[in-house]
Amino acid sequence: MLHDPLVPLSDSFGRTVTYLRVSVTDRCDLRCTYCMSEHTSFMPKRELLTLEELDRLVSAFVDLGVRKLRVTGGEPLVRRGIMTFFQAMGRHVRSGALKELTLTTNGTLLARHAAELADCGVKRVNVSLDTLDPAKYGRITRWGRLENVLGGIAAAQAAGLRVKINTVALRGQNDDELFRLVDWCAEQGCDLTFIEVMPMGEFGVEDRLSQFWPLSELRAELETRYRLADTALSTGGPASYVRVAETGQTIGFIRPLSHNFCATCNRVRLSCRGELYTCLGTEGSSDLRPALRDGEAGLGLYAAIQTALRLKPAGHAFGYLAGGVQGAMARGMNHTGG
Ligand code: SAM
Ligand code: SF4
Repeated sequence: MLHDPLVPLSDSFGRTVTYLRVSVTDRCDLRCTYCMSEHTSFMPKRELLTLEELDRLVSAFVDLGVRKLRVTGGEPLVRRGIMTFFQAMGRHVRSGALKELTLTTNGTLLARHAAELADCGVKRVNVSLDTLDPAKYGRITRWGRLENVLGGIAAAQAAGLRVKINTVALRGQNDDELFRLVDWCAEQGCDLTFIEVMPMGEFGVEDRLSQFWPLSELRAELETRYRLADTALSTGGPASYVRVAETGQTIGFIRPLSHNFCATCNRVRLSCRGELYTCLGTEGSSDLRPALRDGEAGLGLYAAIQTALRLKPAGHAFGYLAGGVQGAMARGMNHTGG
């Protein structure tokens, strides 16, 4: 692939893009109720980029200045051969081009892959876990087994990976476990981030509304028990972080709906069939497959990426209004990755 002339990726609002999230599959071995319907349909496999195409496409982003790569899905670890992709990305970590290679996973297959992920240069992994109650875990994920995830977390830590737990705040479901989750994460040496549930997917938007537990309320409840100190930590995204005086752990709050972070957004998302989504909260995307599959590739692919970047909107529109949902997204979270 040709390397010059390269202009760092920036959009028409002057934001520099250094963070790419790539969904390597829309499939998953779970069906979390806020993410997918039980009988959701997936893309035909023939539409997926091959692992070799994914490597070329993501490497073009790295050439253009992406420094942080998060592999997600669907569940990234269910994609057949996915370790080949991690090994390929490992070369960018070794060369210093990628400062961080990481993944978001439900953890069910982590025990099997943790050591190899560490060998590929992964240092941290985000594991999604909304409850420590096995029966409730089964209900939220429809058929997941909590013990698999806990085993995955233990294996990741044994392999030297730092684990951050992602917990979707769900009113009526895990609001009674707030302190238990915080204390458990502190005991395990895991950081913890809470996420507000988002109105995505073509099913049950009303359910999202009834599940919505604003993190302002969650934080106020935490403050009845812990002393929280705001930190300046920032990933350029929707998360803000506090340090818990009693435990020393970091707790993050991802508030895509009640907190405006768009002005400093540094990230874009790639679907498993090569569409670039420049904003999680708007529908538009650019298809990078033609440029990727064009025999001339090289500069054509760079140009296609740069053109797509210029379409990144100033901000998203979705949110919860009194009694309703504004700008709900038909696209499921598994399509672009969380
Ligand atoms: N399967 C992996 C996992 O669960 O970690 C990676 C993909 S999943 C789509 C990424 C993140 O999105 C998870 O932490 C999940 O909890 C979150 N998520 C899915 N649907 C969501 C929704 N409607 N609102 C907020 N977060 C959601
Ligand atoms: Fe699968 Fe992750 Fe969606 Fe749950 S949140 S259904 S684990 S993709």
